[in-house]
Amino acid sequence: MTDTFTVVDPASGRPLTEVALASVEETDRAIEAAQEAFAHWRSVAPGERAAVLRRFGDLVDAHVEELAELEVRNAGHTLANARWEAGNVRDCLHYYAGAPERLFGRQIPVAGGTDLTFHEPLGVVGIIVPWNFPMPILGWGVAPALAAGNTVVLKPAELTPLTAVRIAELGREAGLPEGVFTVLPGKGSVVGERFVTHPLVRKVTFTGSTEVGKRIMAGCAEQVKRVTLELGGKSSNIVFADADLAAAAASAPYAVFDNAGQDCCARSRILVERSAHDEFLSLLEPAVSGLKVLDPADPDSEMGPLISAEQRRRVQGYLDDVEVAFAGTTPGGDGFWVPPSVVLADDPAAPIWREEVFGPVVAVMPFDDEAHAVELANDTEYGLSGSIFTSDLGRGLRVARAVEAGNLSVNSHAAVRYWTPFGGYKQSGLGRELGPDAPQAFTEEKNVFIAH
Ligand code: NAD
Repeated sequence: MTDTFTVVDPASGRPLTEVALASVEETDRAIEAAQEAFAHWRSVAPGERAAVLRRFGDLVDAHVEELAELEVRNAGHTLANARWEAGNVRDCLHYYAGAPERLFGRQIPVAGGTDLTFHEPLGVVGIIVPWNFPMPILGWGVAPALAAGNTVVLKPAELTPLTAVRIAELGREAGLPEGVFTVLPGKGSVVGERFVTHPLVRKVTFTGSTEVGKRIMAGCAEQVKRVTLELGGKSSNIVFADADLAAAAASAPYAVFDNAGQDCCARSRILVERSAHDEFLSLLEPAVSGLKVLDPADPDSEMGPLISAEQRRRVQGYLDDVEVAFAGTTPGGDGFWVPPSVVLADDPAAPIWREEVFGPVVAVMPFDDEAHAVELANDTEYGLSGSIFTSDLGRGLRVARAVEAGNLSVNSHAAVRYWTPFGGYKQSGLGRELGPDAPQAFTEEKNVFIAH
């Protein structure tokens, strides 16, 4: 009998639909089909591969509204965010449609002959996606992997499979041959593990928790399998006293409460220069209490529910151990709601300061000077993103260079742009996604020497 999973609407707690979970045998068949499709897909003329990706992007564009509505119900994302997320898949497909015709090798000056390098596709790529950003993370992996001539099997998170299944249908409609891109809803311990152990899967791209990422890396090591890891974060928003404090306070809630804090880049630690600490808090309070925490389908909603009852329990566990200085509201009801909450921190060893809460909770701590801010920001095993607010651009750049993280912004909270590389330092990950070099991460560089 087929195993199924009940997908739930997190805003109401009510079941949405049942999804069949793939077995190990079904996963093996999909991997074998992807291997068969690889022989053809890698030899499709670059211009034709580009055209299929462009059509795929156009079809996603034509279905942004449908995909967004599906994500609002399945993941509890606000309508505005979900539209951006579907648009991000389109943008990735269009951007990487430029890659097949530009995957240049090199001609290297050598003695005794001619030397050439080629970027050759790896084969079948396994992509494992978490529940917090089902669409963008699909796009970041699938678009460059297909552009470089690989075939893809993708496992969405159990909780959020619906948009991935729909996007794969659009891929087929755009002209992707059978087996080139297959979505396999299933359990991490079944489908995900099989991507790691199956010898025909040449690379695993994993986004999720650091704990599972370590297991995947260890499993991939058995076969020296290529692996990219995008893992957890505990990022800092550093506010200097010379910053535009009103702008810093107005934007800080979005940097952490976006997607109800279930964001690997969430700036869940706000470091404020001591002389501006009290003024900053007095500006932050109305920004947090005024946040529109509403049903995510309401176009005015700025924050939705958490993904599941389990996630709410985890986050509530952190809140039970601290004193909340001030918080926003929730609409109540049976959904998985937690209000956006602000905690004043004074102990850098406290769990709320060190651990990834993955919920709408931010801790605020004062710092004394630039060196102290950098020391506090770097006192973590994570290193994904961060923001610096200051009117001194020299200092902004200096601190951005000193913080051990992959994605820093000065006077902004932007972390993810499809044009620029994205990834973590330390235990936030391994490798980079997005940006102009992403297709190369799905290739081997081959060197050929021809003697004269
Ligand atoms: P998770 O690690 O529990 O699951 C992620 C995915 O891995 C899911 O599809 C899951 O089914 C699968 N999985 C679980 N066990 C597996 C196993 N043994 N083998 C193979 N696959 C397995 O993470 P989550 O709770 O879904 O996501 C939240 C985490 O993801 C947070 O830590 C967050 O910071 C991180 N994240 C990181 C980034 C980034 O780009 N760095 C982006 C989004 C989320």
